[in-house]
Amino acid sequence: MLNTESQYRLVFCTNSDIQLTTLLNGLNNLGFIGKTVFRTNAGQEYCVGDSFLQSVTFMGCSPYIELEPAVQLKPDAVADFCFIRVLAVNDNHVLYHATQLDKLKTVPRCKHCRKVIADWVEHAPAFNTTNHWQLDCPACGHKLTQDDLDWRKASGSGNLFIEVVNVYLQEAVPTDAFLQQLETISSSPWQYFYTDSNMNTKLLDSN
Ligand SMILES: [Zn+2]
Repeated sequence: MLNTESQYRLVFCTNSDIQLTTLLNGLNNLGFIGKTVFRTNAGQEYCVGDSFLQSVTFMGCSPYIELEPAVQLKPDAVADFCFIRVLAVNDNHVLYHATQLDKLKTVPRCKHCRKVIADWVEHAPAFNTTNHWQLDCPACGHKLTQDDLDWRKASGSGNLFIEVVNVYLQEAVPTDAFLQQLETISSSPWQYFYTDSNMNTKLLDSN
């Protein structure tokens, strides 16, 4: 797997019953992913496909995006080009930052009343140790599960993740058409967010 520690990325996530291969075939048919860069136990890494630049809109004036790897890439190379990693985990609703909430500076909002969760620092540790995390919203009293938290585009949860590596914070925004195409492939709605952390979970599929 390419070394992407601390590199910025745009991440898509969803909860879906489809197989990883179905998602990969769909992304391939769309031209979102291209040829394989590396295949490892933890995930599969692809060059961007022919229609990648129609799927996400890059902001700013003429950003320079490196879309091709260096000629000779070693498996542990630090990747400085834009590529895509697709990950599946065995459980639904896995928070991307579940084991590294300390790195996540964003305080989530309650999806019902839109207020940030007061004293989040006190509630966060239970995330790592509780299977069915719950919290009564300090503002509106709603019984919150993980899915009731709005991470304000700083994290998300699911069982399928698509990472676009080397995209800076809010540098690129997916088109509505692409989000709709993803939804069609998986029959489930997708969220997206921006981060510079790697997913760090033992639940990764090994196929
Ligand atoms: Zn609330």
